[in-house]
Order: sequence, then structure tokens, then C-alpha cells
Amino acid sequence: MSKGVLFIISGPSGTGKGTVCEQLLKEDNIFLSISATTRDKRAGEVEGVTYYYTTEEIFKSMIENGEMLEHAVYSGNYYGTPKKAVEDMLSNGKNVILEIEAQGALKVKALMPEAIMIFLVPPSIEELRNRLKQRGRESIEEIERRIEAAKWEFSQSPKYNYVVVNNQLETCVSDVLNIIKKENERQEMIERLLSEI
Ligand code: 5GP
Repeated sequence: MSKGVLFIISGPSGTGKGTVCEQLLKEDNIFLSISATTRDKRAGEVEGVTYYYTTEEIFKSMIENGEMLEHAVYSGNYYGTPKKAVEDMLSNGKNVILEIEAQGALKVKALMPEAIMIFLVPPSIEELRNRLKQRGRESIEEIERRIEAAKWEFSQSPKYNYVVVNNQLETCVSDVLNIIKKENERQEMIERLLSEI
């Protein structure tokens, strides 16, 4: 069986990473890594589906025990990717998606250079600001902080394998699915060539 491919989907807050990933999960061979976080559960979120909600103490002990593939502090809360679930899914030949912020994305790429990094960007900053406002989760000051943070995130874009614009959801999802298909074909071709040597 081919080893699975790890895809990292990242991009500034408000770009629509969550919505895009929800659509990707409708496909048979695409699985999402469930992160752990110390932030409070929001209405509609489900333990073990949206996140594993935990305390700072437990989160820090997971880091010390080497259970996290990566972690980052974002808006005052810890977020991290539990390592074992990702490794298990990859060895079972699955396509695994990490939907994480940019610091974590770069850490995973350094550890696993074979991971495919996809950077989602909004069509414009005005649209990004509108989406953050419509979502209604952050104050105006927090929205401006997130837009300011996007400056650094955009500067990291050369480190990504692909940049995809999320202008229209369906088109964006289809662009990402094409990338996943292409990368799977590439992996299969290399494995076949290696097996022929
Ligand atoms: P939210 O609190 O809105 O669910 O997530 C805040 C940010 O944390 C988002 O950019 C999300 O992609 C990112 N995030 C979620 N899980 C992880 C994780 O495991 N590691 C890292 N580095 N970022 C994460």
C-alpha cells in the first residue's frame, strides 16, 4: 500500500480554511487531523470532532512527552497536532489534512519536507476584513490585529508548494482537490519507478 500524503492547509484568519476543509472531507480518502487546543469550546463545536479541548497543564505535558507533531500559541491559546493519529493515518495510505496557522505549518514542513503546503489567500484585503466582520467572532481591534498578522503570513508564501485564492468556495475546493489528485499521482508514479529498479 502507498504511504499517505500529508497536506498542510494554512492561510490568514478569515480566508475560509475551515469551510474549505469541511468540503474536502466529503471525499472518501481525505481525513482531517483533529487538533488539541486550550481555547474554550464555541457553540456548535464538538469535543473530538472540532478539537480535543484540554487544559494548559495537560497540553504542556503532551508537549513534554513528545506527543505533539507541532504546536503554536495563537491569540493567547495553545493549539497543537497530536502526532500519533497523523502517523497512523499516513501509514494506512490516507490523505491527511492539517488545517493550522502559519507558524505550525512551517514547523511541520521542517520536520516532514515531503508534506505539501497549500496557502489559501483571500481575493483582497477588503474582502478579508468583510469576512472577519461578518463572522462576528472578533472585535474590530482583534480583526485589525489579524489583518496585521497576515503581513508576515503573506511574506512566507514562497515557502509553500501552492497558493490558492479563495474567491468562490466551489472553485477553491476544486482547485485544492486537483492538487491532492496530482500529488497522489506523483507519489504513485515515484513508488512505481522505485519498485522497478
Ligand atoms: P480557531 O480558534 O479559530 O479555531 O483557530 C485559530 C487558528 O489556529 C486557526 O488559524 C487554525 O487554523 C489554527 N489551528 C488550529 N489547530 C491548530 C494546530 O493544531 N496547530 C496550529 N499551529 N494551529 C492550529
